[in-house]
Amino acid sequence: MSTQTTDLLDRIQDPETGREILDPATGERVGFAPQATAEDLDAAVARALAAQPGWAASGEDTRRQALHAAADAVEAHAEELARLLSREQGKPLNGPNARFEVGACAAWLRTTADLTLEPEVIVDDESGRAIMHYRPLGVVGAIGPWNWPMMISIWQIAPSLRMGNTVVIKPSGYTPLSVLALVEVLNSALPADVLLAVPGRGDIGDRLSRHPDVAKIMFTGSTETGKSIVKAASDTMKRMTMELGGNDAGIVLEDADPRALAEGIFWGAFINTGQTCAALKRLYVPDAIYDEVCEALIEVAKTMPMGIGLEEQNVLGPLQNRAQWEIVDRLVRAAKDSGARVLLGGDPDQEAAGNFYPTTLVADIDPQNPLVIEEQFGPALPIIRYTDLDQAVEWANALDEALGSSVWSADPARAVEVAARLVAGTTWINKHGAVDPRIPFGGARESGFGMEFGVAGLKEVAQPHVISQ
Ligand code: NDP
Repeated sequence: MSTQTTDLLDRIQDPETGREILDPATGERVGFAPQATAEDLDAAVARALAAQPGWAASGEDTRRQALHAAADAVEAHAEELARLLSREQGKPLNGPNARFEVGACAAWLRTTADLTLEPEVIVDDESGRAIMHYRPLGVVGAIGPWNWPMMISIWQIAPSLRMGNTVVIKPSGYTPLSVLALVEVLNSALPADVLLAVPGRGDIGDRLSRHPDVAKIMFTGSTETGKSIVKAASDTMKRMTMELGGNDAGIVLEDADPRALAEGIFWGAFINTGQTCAALKRLYVPDAIYDEVCEALIEVAKTMPMGIGLEEQNVLGPLQNRAQWEIVDRLVRAAKDSGARVLLGGDPDQEAAGNFYPTTLVADIDPQNPLVIEEQFGPALPIIRYTDLDQAVEWANALDEALGSSVWSADPARAVEVAARLVAGTTWINKHGAVDPRIPFGGARESGFGMEFGVAGLKEVAQPHVISQ
């Protein structure tokens, strides 16, 4: 075990009654995750509820400063947090992975701290004056996934606190230690009880979603669980933000330069070893440049080492859990069985200690193949050939998921025209999945509802209150 993470880990784990957490790259023990009971959850909500009025009354400047102080604390512990995250989640320290994720936590805290949501003057004329104010909601319940456990927690925590809410967060049962460590660090800079973590599995998440003293649920995870939470939370008419699964399409236009775009497409698809909600999960390429795009992607992919996260040279890691490995393996098998052409990877070492699945590129695949139409959430990219752009747009828009999408072209104006025809929360041009704390992000269709980030994100954790005179 790395000594750098020991102190923080000692403070958050529970070797007596906790659940053992294993490193997905090596199978070695990382630590023991405490398990909250229903009573623990109720007690946490009660504390958050009691703390909320004082936090709301503390004022904008106090909350801004507290979020900056929390960012300072994250930066002071950045290497410890990154190493723990790497060992528990599996992602390498380097590349757009663990150190990047911890850096993003600080960046989101700071940008969110500095946002301003002013009251809006709706009407001001001889008929009267109506002003819309944004008040805190109360206690926000946050439920998160295992792929970007720290960053997504911050996406839920930072705007909620900034608006004067308090937060009770339930981390994924796969990556609780990362979130508990982050919360421990944040709380070194925050007042008591404005942020409480309740580690547990789905039953604790369900109880949080039903809790009468929770005003809002912010959820990031699968569409299936999202639907269950919507039902559970509706009895108490909670506000909700749902960031759910995606199966993002990328469309390459005929004028694109394959070599210039290959690295961007690679990272759009393989960031976090493909375990990213808004990763590029199906790539549509015109016949005229199909072979060049495939060649360029193979060349880039071959230069990206995969391995144990703590080894500095690696930029791709294992799947976080075996269940996700099985999904990727099943989908790649389905592609192979259908006669699709595996350009790279596709043949995992079944005996390996960790959940490693090799970087896999699959060409000449039917547009309706399961590897295309089901979210693989791992390092396997189907590359679909098209001859007619209208057909590619139709395929891109055909699924229930509609989180992100991208258009790749040497002519940005033409790319924007194609982008306007796509159904998605975000369409990127010549990049994919590039989130920014200032730019609203959210899903269409079954990828969810509600926006995160920027002023739009603040509004989602606020109660509009119109005063009309
Ligand atoms: P899950 O939906 O399985 O789990 C997400 C969280 O919900 C976990 O903390 C889980 O707890 C909890 N949970 C499970 N059941 C319930 C319930 N009935 N009520 C309340 N909470 C519950 O997703 P994963 O963590 O497995 O993440 C993978 C999936 O999430 C992928 O499909 C991916 O597309 C999607 N995702 C979407 C993102 C987005 O921004 N749109 C970002 C990241 C992932 P526990 O695991 O401990 O049981």
